[in-house]
Amino acid sequence: MRWSQWYIPTLKEAPGDAEVISHKLLIRAGMIRKLTSGIYTWLPLGLRTLNKAANIVREEMDRAGAQEILMPTVQPADLWRESGRWEHYGKELLRFKDRHERDYCLGPTHEEVVTDLIRGEVRSYRQLPMNLYQIQTKFRDEIRPRFGLMRGREFLMKDAYSFDRDDAGADISYKKMFEAYKKIFSRMALQFRPVEADSGSIGGNFSHEFMVLAETGEDTIAYCTGCDWSANIERAAVLPPAKACEETCSAIEEVTTPDQHTIEEVCGFLKVPAQKLIKTLLYVVDGKPVAALVRGDRELNEIKLKNYFKADEVVLASPEQVTQWTNAPVGFAGPVGFTAGPIVADHELMADTDWIAGANKADTHILHVDLKRDVPAFAYADLRSIAEGDVCPRCGKPVAFAKGIEVGHVFKLGTKYSTALNAIYLDENGKEQTIIMGCYGIGVSRVVAACIEQNNDGDGIAFPPPLAPFDLELLNLDPKNADTAAKADELYDLLTGMGLDVLLDDREERPGVKFKDADLVGLPMQVVVGGKGLARGIVEVKNRKTGEKGELPVEGFAEAFAAWRKSVLACWGM
Ligand code: ATP
Ligand code: MG
Repeated sequence: MRWSQWYIPTLKEAPGDAEVISHKLLIRAGMIRKLTSGIYTWLPLGLRTLNKAANIVREEMDRAGAQEILMPTVQPADLWRESGRWEHYGKELLRFKDRHERDYCLGPTHEEVVTDLIRGEVRSYRQLPMNLYQIQTKFRDEIRPRFGLMRGREFLMKDAYSFDRDDAGADISYKKMFEAYKKIFSRMALQFRPVEADSGSIGGNFSHEFMVLAETGEDTIAYCTGCDWSANIERAAVLPPAKACEETCSAIEEVTTPDQHTIEEVCGFLKVPAQKLIKTLLYVVDGKPVAALVRGDRELNEIKLKNYFKADEVVLASPEQVTQWTNAPVGFAGPVGFTAGPIVADHELMADTDWIAGANKADTHILHVDLKRDVPAFAYADLRSIAEGDVCPRCGKPVAFAKGIEVGHVFKLGTKYSTALNAIYLDENGKEQTIIMGCYGIGVSRVVAACIEQNNDGDGIAFPPPLAPFDLELLNLDPKNADTAAKADELYDLLTGMGLDVLLDDREERPGVKFKDADLVGLPMQVVVGGKGLARGIVEVKNRKTGEKGELPVEGFAEAFAAWRKSVLACWGM
């Protein structure tokens, strides 16, 4: 391909709204352009990388026995009503009406459509297991689209759905996808880590996220410094204390704490560490009041609270609700005498007694609280977010944190959609059984951003060979000179003949511009043809990743190049 005839609008400056490096470089390298918030056009160079990522995904999905289909973007509301998600999905679902006033949405995911597809037609156990996938554009009206391709509103996803006869089969399908994902992200030369995304249920994990490790990641991963356990902190389990406290303490006693609303204020006022306080958080869980308790220095994890109550919605109570339930302004709620709803305490609170808590009375706290003695009904549960230094729930060694970008998600769905949409099959005995499902997503466009987050330097992108838009850039420094141009064309044909995708920069630009653009666009190999070099019988080469330069002879170029290329691939571990 000749740069002079291609649309590669590189820029010196990134637009002001680009915060992360991948967003800046994708725009500057002329790979994408923004249409409107969270919605981008793929330009020729960018699209080549996107297609490379999609093809790796496709090859490994096919190899794992999944079959490619293509489902529609527009989905009828009736299906979403059947699954119950029309009411629950919230504002990320972009809804609209057709000319007949019928409701539709743009698909943010395809569980409903795929289940509708197979119900009624997949009827026999002989047709199972089956795995269907697509690589298709999704739309989610994200509340905060940002970081370019990383959190778009319109984005490319690979989504696969498995259908099995029973749980054991579904576990095998899950494992196959898990292994396929490891191959996919390894082939893309990404540094990644599968992490537990749901560790709540006993008997195994039913969800893993594949995280690309990067400082700019929106997710925080907790990982063990001793074993290979790791989990999204949204879900990471915290073990109960090794031993429950059996002691008690003196009787409760009220203390006035005028205008001391926050944990810090109360600690300062009473001169006690936050570890001695109970933080009481009031929530509306599916419309009902709940009091959730954690130690004063801890963070309550709303996802754990939601899972504990198997709730659809968990929102912090409003100041009015707090006053209504506790007879006090915000800051004085406590478990002793709280009767508005159930009380659930983080199990860490088992480990101690003699707590300080709010008194459900303005400007008042209670000293010497012993939960087991002073609160008639409450439950212990794992409610707080894991912290650095906590013990690994698997091996007991300390836990550390890292940042990650979620590029993939494997999920065992069970019968949620097959029950709701009545997807059943007849087993060997002619008996009706519900199909067990799994779903498996990869953010193909997010992968492109994640790849650039991991592979860049001050000069631009340094593409790993598998995702580079072209294998190599051939720079002709002197396109006006017929001899140099002829030599560049000859090398272009030779390299193309070796099966390589070559981008030939034949623009009438200064060499400096070309060098800068070559580093910005970041193809793994650069071959530079210039008059001075040719006079000495050489061309220059540069390994974009390492920055290492060299010279290859024009005579016997093919062999010398093949050897140099090997060294470039080797630095990518290939
Ligand atoms: P997130 O927590 O980042 O919003 P999610 O849990 O909503 O992700 P899934 O529903 O599991 O994501 O979707 C599958 C994959 O699609 C994700 O692993 C991610 O790579 C990608 N993805 C999800 N939302 C977006 C988005 N707004 N922009 C780009 N890719 C996305
Ligand atoms: Mg999301």
